[in-house]
Amino acid sequence: MIFDNHGRVLDYVRLAVTDRCNLRCFYCMPEEGIDYLPKKQLLTYEEMERMLQVLAGMGIRKVRITGGEPFLRKDLLSFLERIKAIPGIEEIHITTNGVLTGPLVPALKELGIKSVNLSLDSLDRERFFKITRRDELPRVMDTFHALLQHDIPVKINAVVMEGQNTQDIIPLAQLTEKYPVSVRFIEEMPFNGGANNHPSLTWNYLKILDELQNIYPGLTKAADAPNATAEHYRIPGHAGNIGIIAAYTRTFCGTCNRIRVTSQGGLKTCLYGEDILNIRDLLRAGTTDESLNAAFQGAFKNRAKDGFEAEEQRQFLLPVFQSMSTIGG
Ligand code: SAM
Ligand code: SF4
Repeated sequence: MIFDNHGRVLDYVRLAVTDRCNLRCFYCMPEEGIDYLPKKQLLTYEEMERMLQVLAGMGIRKVRITGGEPFLRKDLLSFLERIKAIPGIEEIHITTNGVLTGPLVPALKELGIKSVNLSLDSLDRERFFKITRRDELPRVMDTFHALLQHDIPVKINAVVMEGQNTQDIIPLAQLTEKYPVSVRFIEEMPFNGGANNHPSLTWNYLKILDELQNIYPGLTKAADAPNATAEHYRIPGHAGNIGIIAAYTRTFCGTCNRIRVTSQGGLKTCLYGEDILNIRDLLRAGTTDESLNAAFQGAFKNRAKDGFEAEEQRQFLLPVFQSMSTIGG
């Protein structure tokens, strides 16, 4: 098992397989998009596989594939097969915007994908278009239904934004009446690729909870998994549940079990911190598995205690404005 310098077990890696995206969500990147990295600067599948083998040997058990939009990376399904075969990796999860995912759902089921997080900030086609700058709500909803039909656990990720989609909180929560899904409301963070809109955080987790309680006075607290980032709630009689993620307020750092690897191989031991290590450069310099293991250990033993400390320790890029598309969310 891997323990960090604060005694937290690390068993979960979030791997961004690309920085490319087919949406332009305004909280993630400017309308014109971001400057994508040249392809050769991205980790190859072989490099990702080797890195995961080393991490699995150290104690990583869960992998989340994210991006950018992961399904824009060619041959993703074959890569998922390869991850599945790595000894020690017990669970593969995916975060997707759902635009290209629907037709691939049967294959994901066959692969044994443990769950899919689907980003969906509005059920209203016009508002969805305004937020993502693409008219793709119908295809995202097709993905949602395909996932349910194939019994793949679904979590919906909805970023709550002042003046954009607060009127969607209740309709999204209402999805849990009929469907056994988890609808998670996320505080907006400042990772928007330098776009001019700065999150106001008017809609912090307390305000989101208040909004839900006003409409659903019977809302009850539900149990949370040990390393959950969301606080879960249930509406009596509903099939699914609701989560609230205090992503900007950062209330959950004390139990954080995750590390992140960006599409160019940057290791992040905190979302709010800088890249601690460039795994791509180490791999391309011919490093041995032992040296890679030692480099990881060094990074894990030097982890900030929370997102505020990580932010304070940053030397570059302050305030934080990288696009989430390059970090993976
Ligand atoms: N493209 C895929 C998607 O949208 O699901 C995967 C990558 S995306 C960066 C991962 C998650 O990060 C999404 O659920 C998205 O809503 C969330 N996200 C992106 N930018 C964010 C921001 N500024 N604040 C909060 N969440 C953000
Ligand atoms: Fe693309 Fe996901 Fe960022 Fe939206 S949140 S622009 S879908 S990477």
